[in-house]
Amino acid sequence: MQEAPWKRRVSVLGSTGSVGTQALDVIDRLSLPVAALAALRSVAQLEAQARRFRPALAVLFDEAAARDLKIRLADTDIRVSGGEAGLLEAAAEGDTVLTALTGIAGLAPTLAAIDAGRDIALANKETLVCAGELVMARARAKGVGILPVDSEHSAVFQCLQGQVKAPRRILLTASGGPFYGKTRAETDNFGPAEALSHPTWRMGPKITVDCATLMNKGLEYIEAMRLYGVSPGQIEVLIHRESVVHSLVGLDDRSVLAQLGVPDMRLPIQYALTYPARLDCPVEPLDLCKIGCLRFAPPDYVNFPCLALAMEAARTGGGACAVLNGANEAAVELFLQGRIRFGHIAPAVEDALSRLGNPDTDDLAAIYAADTAARAAVARFAANLQQRM
Ligand code: MG
Repeated sequence: MQEAPWKRRVSVLGSTGSVGTQALDVIDRLSLPVAALAALRSVAQLEAQARRFRPALAVLFDEAAARDLKIRLADTDIRVSGGEAGLLEAAAEGDTVLTALTGIAGLAPTLAAIDAGRDIALANKETLVCAGELVMARARAKGVGILPVDSEHSAVFQCLQGQVKAPRRILLTASGGPFYGKTRAETDNFGPAEALSHPTWRMGPKITVDCATLMNKGLEYIEAMRLYGVSPGQIEVLIHRESVVHSLVGLDDRSVLAQLGVPDMRLPIQYALTYPARLDCPVEPLDLCKIGCLRFAPPDYVNFPCLALAMEAARTGGGACAVLNGANEAAVELFLQGRIRFGHIAPAVEDALSRLGNPDTDDLAAIYAADTAARAAVARFAANLQQRM
């Protein structure tokens, strides 16, 4: 009997994270073959996943952890690899590569997967923010698909099925994050404990902080531009507290299409892995009567300046987007370490943008240089803050 066309071999980069583990739930239920599993350093968890899913290759980025994993998996025929080289190897395996690493660390593996001709199930938005033009051009040249996993971009992708023209408008919805309705004066002094609780989605620490600052929506704004070839003026952000409408597209005749569902990442993950097939997914059925009403409101740019900074970077150009991303990654890291407060994240990013502007990002080396410069600017910003305190 012939295998169903959606039974493609999957390689999961970032398999021990939030999206990675939810992807393995989907993969398990659909019995999709796993080609490779890769993570940063969680030895015990990756060992358990490797024993369960039997990939040809298991990778830990941390070299010492990879050596430990190799000993633990010695009784199996699973090949174990480590370091950046290991990640790139895992990226070249399978038919579809799910990229669920966090930050610019996902860029090189995503490019390696494209170069190997693998379709990408993209759960690493930073890749498109810092290098969107390069990544999309290379994907087009190689004829590989970029299938969005981000719930908003999956919604847009779903609404665009059957459309021959690009959308006239994209309406990205945002939950508003845990600090919705609060002022800067109320949140400025918040630390990691306050920021790490999100009302709707269960996620890793970096994206959870990004949701609290609304930078996540800003990064998604840039991601949407790159994925769908639209200009900044064609994208709007709507605060939608119920998180039921995952995004909308406006067409030439002024029809607006939306995708709705309960907020559960397994749905967009599954669609990216089995596209264009729609298979049963054991998420809660949507009960609109129980929800009662769906509300929409404009974002509060004054109390959530990160969103405005990202939209401004989108208008400025690719170099500014790379600076924005690098500065934000560095600022969030300092925030999670308790070295800066919540209210310092936006000024740190703004400072890097005003110092570095819109640098050249024509090739990969220039993109990494912009990222490094942005991180250095944030480090200086934080050092100056400490001197003043
Ligand atoms: Mg999202």
